[in-house]
Amino acid sequence: MTPALIWFRQDLRLDDNPALHAAQDRPLLACYILDDEAAAGWAHGGAQRWWLHHSLAALRDALASRGATLHLAVGRAEAVVPQLAAAIGASEVHAGRLYEPWARRRDEAVAKALQAEGRRLVLHSSSLLHEPHRVRTGQGKPYSVYTPFSRAIFALGEPPPPLPAPGKLHAPADAAEGVPLETLGLLPERDWWREFPRHWTPGEDGARSRLRRFAARALEGYDGARNTPGVEGTSGLSPHLRFGELSPRQVWHAAREAGAKGEATFLKEILWREFSYHLLWHRQELPEAPLQANFAQFPWQPDAKLLRAWQRGRTGYPIVDAGMRQLWRMGWMHNRVRMIAGSLLVKHLLQPWQAGAAWFWDTLLDGDLASNSASWQWVAGCGADAAPYFRVFNPTLQGEKFDADGAYVRHWVPELAKLPDKYLHKPWEAPDLVLRGAGVRLGADYPRPIVEHAAGRARALDAYAALRAEA
Ligand code: FAD
Repeated sequence: MTPALIWFRQDLRLDDNPALHAAQDRPLLACYILDDEAAAGWAHGGAQRWWLHHSLAALRDALASRGATLHLAVGRAEAVVPQLAAAIGASEVHAGRLYEPWARRRDEAVAKALQAEGRRLVLHSSSLLHEPHRVRTGQGKPYSVYTPFSRAIFALGEPPPPLPAPGKLHAPADAAEGVPLETLGLLPERDWWREFPRHWTPGEDGARSRLRRFAARALEGYDGARNTPGVEGTSGLSPHLRFGELSPRQVWHAAREAGAKGEATFLKEILWREFSYHLLWHRQELPEAPLQANFAQFPWQPDAKLLRAWQRGRTGYPIVDAGMRQLWRMGWMHNRVRMIAGSLLVKHLLQPWQAGAAWFWDTLLDGDLASNSASWQWVAGCGADAAPYFRVFNPTLQGEKFDADGAYVRHWVPELAKLPDKYLHKPWEAPDLVLRGAGVRLGADYPRPIVEHAAGRARALDAYAALRAEA
């Protein structure tokens, strides 16, 4: 049998891996290519690089335990993939399909290069429940609104069951040696990621155990707890899904089998991911340009100082600052707080949503071009299916509602921990005596609000009105 090359990209797992499954009976070489040049501005952010390092180590060991080698390389995939395929005499290269515009261009180039030598690139559906080009409205168009999209997906019925992991694998005779993992230089030099290992275990085993834990415990209460950032009410599966250590099919079926109360709401969240990919596939400008074209004229007021205060969690709004510090230290932020923090940046502070998306891209372990871009456009009100721009979150009320007992803010903004609940989300209203009693010196230990809510809201609405007047 002719050997095959398996090109791992965003499906770093053995279970339910259609590319691996298709070639498991042949001699095979597995490879991963770090090709930052092709990804251009969308190469892995710093936090993702940490994850990728550990995920590749786990994949390498899992493959080795079955008799296969993970060949690591750095360079342009258009050159490396054909070289590797030729070296082992592979007639086919199997890979999971990617949806990012840069990756689509690259796959076309790789397919062409392989074809020129009589070889084939075979792409498999491995990171979505349904291929975005297959899901269409009654008029044959792509969806631009989430609710009808999700209904259409539910109407398609259950996704197929996950494929089993392969048993023993066989290496080809001439498997070339790749570079050591350390050569990829993925671990950031500064150890700002030192808390990550306390929260996360990259790799397929870590993904599986987190899914099991969530299905057994938190799924039951997901409906109620998923909006409370101070409790572990969500799955925390996003980085595992981002790197394909789990497939959405596995997650879907595990949630179904658990038979817990939160199932329907949870599956709808999984479909938000699916919808983001649908948008990215059909609107390739998603990461860079507003889907509502008139927003290209929005009068943003880029300001490096404001952006930095937001990034560092020093806006004076405790719920926002807690979120931004959680992001920095944990590489992840609760969804509710992503919305509140994002809203403050683009509305009260009039900073372009792309600046927020870029910071998230660098600091999120789950940084995903489809979900990040679609969510930021949603927050900014310029996306396909967006909350209207004029709906401006009040960060104080959001904090009081979703972090009523203050557990979240007290954990991530410890300098406010001793404030009573009444003032925790608005320390600037606390009487001096209360502040002194809690050991807080406003403006010294903790900042005053970077912008007053009513003034920030009014400025945002003025900017929006100016945009509409121009349209
Ligand atoms: P759960 O509540 O357990 O949900 C399960 C899974 O469903 C998630 O792992 C995720 O894959 C998917 N999901 C849930 N909500 C969404 C959503 N709104 N959009 C897309 N998928 C969703 N998610 C990312 O995976 N990567 C990103 O880069 C990203 N950037 C975001 C930026 C902003 C401004 C906002 C508001 C949201 C962003 N999200 C992103 C969506 C969401 O916040 C995360 O998916 C979620 O917080 C992950 O935590 P979880 O796995 O515990 O979620």
